[in-house]
Amino acid sequence: MERLTVFDKHTGEALGELTVADAAAVAAATRRARDAFPAWSATPAHRRATILRAASESLTAHADELARLIARESGKALKYASAEVARAAETFGFAADEARRIHGETVPMDASAAGEGRLGFWLRMPIGVVAAITPFNFPLNLVAHKVAPALAAGNAVVLKPAERTPLTAVRLAALLAECGLPQGALELVHGDGPTTGEALCSDPVPAMVSFTGSPAVGRRILAIAGLKRVTLELGNNSATIVEPDADIAKAVPRCVMSAFANAGQVCLSLQRLYVHERIAEAFTERFLATTSALTVGNPLDPGCDVGPMISVAAAERAEAWVDEALARGARRLGGGRREGALFWPTVLTDVQPAMKVMCQEVFAPVVSIVRYARFEDALDQAADSEYGLQAGIYTRDLDKALLAARRLDVGGVMINDTSIFRADHMPYGGNRGSGLGREGVRFAVEEMTSLRMVVIAPS
Ligand code: NAD
Repeated sequence: MERLTVFDKHTGEALGELTVADAAAVAAATRRARDAFPAWSATPAHRRATILRAASESLTAHADELARLIARESGKALKYASAEVARAAETFGFAADEARRIHGETVPMDASAAGEGRLGFWLRMPIGVVAAITPFNFPLNLVAHKVAPALAAGNAVVLKPAERTPLTAVRLAALLAECGLPQGALELVHGDGPTTGEALCSDPVPAMVSFTGSPAVGRRILAIAGLKRVTLELGNNSATIVEPDADIAKAVPRCVMSAFANAGQVCLSLQRLYVHERIAEAFTERFLATTSALTVGNPLDPGCDVGPMISVAAAERAEAWVDEALARGARRLGGGRREGALFWPTVLTDVQPAMKVMCQEVFAPVVSIVRYARFEDALDQAADSEYGLQAGIYTRDLDKALLAARRLDVGGVMINDTSIFRADHMPYGGNRGSGLGREGVRFAVEEMTSLRMVVIAPS
């Protein structure tokens, strides 16, 4: 059987080996999940909630171990890996809360002449087996965002974690089993997209595919999933606008973090930064000073801000995109150095909308600063994207903030913050090229359940 080796992204050391699931192994896993579904979906909500609460507490109890594992298999700086574990614990906590309040509504049947004398109500039913496919950049919390609401709703799950960072999910599954999750309610399959991912998406058992990852793969999944519900959490080339009335002392460190945390490999990473010309010089100066103070290197070093990217190839791709921008007239204000998978936080200016670093998802520690004179122009430029996940605007002018909230066709507008803000219970997801459907525990539960109408006629 084919084996998958998982490496430490900084040292290259082998961290573990897993068996790759081919189509037959995927089919066996979906059957086990299907067999587990009736008992799990019939488990009373309070018991499901108790297991999810225990999982939340277990994640907290194992926080250091999990953070180190995330840092090693993904290259994420330890401080961000620790923050991810805390968020995942909270995500499971929200799921425990949510499990207890999944409910339907009555329908005033006599509002229609056809319904006179009848009593009607709808129930929110688990959808069945959910196929969950997750990316490398949040190996725990993005898994939690699928597994926790699916289990809260009474679904069984077959999870295919990213093949470069699957060990955290393996550990999570073991902790869930210790917390009392019955066998089969969560099945894991390992392997790459074309082999294991496609087998899972095209398998007839799952009623739904819940995918987080790149836009190209999202489109492929839509094409092969057949008659299943599909939710897609895809990429973005996030914009944030900084108006002249912004508090620069607050905005700059937040913008720097938003551009470079996790080496820019966050779907909400700040990529296009529109700064009003009146403050552009002061803002840029501070931005560069804060950026040059970042520590790049070993993710396990507690002082590390930026660890390696997921692979040397990913860093080389980022370097090539920066070179393309420079060749077409952009100026580099800082960064640009690459050593293997390490890519130093890079700041560009004099960019054009058609450059890859602007119009595509850069997914690397690269940010472009664009000056503007008129607020409306900044809004138009921020809106000029095929993506629509989240955007940010710094201003104390309520009219401008609300205009941005209405005008930008995105899933979330963060006022006095950057695109990167996310709390795990808020509705979260993208429009247009950024995907279909919403996560955030309550909203994922809605996606992962179907409505069943019950009408009682007089006997
Ligand atoms: P990716 O699309 O390469 O892989 C994601 C997952 O899909 C992996 O598990 C992979 O094995 C699987 N996969 C790949 N090809 C497949 C196929 N043909 N069929 C089925 N599954 C397949 O993405 P990545 O490089 O791991 O992650 C980066 C991307 O994820 C970025 O575009 C980023 O914006 C996006 N992302 C989005 C969100 C969000 O919430 N919107 C969050 C994190 C990451």
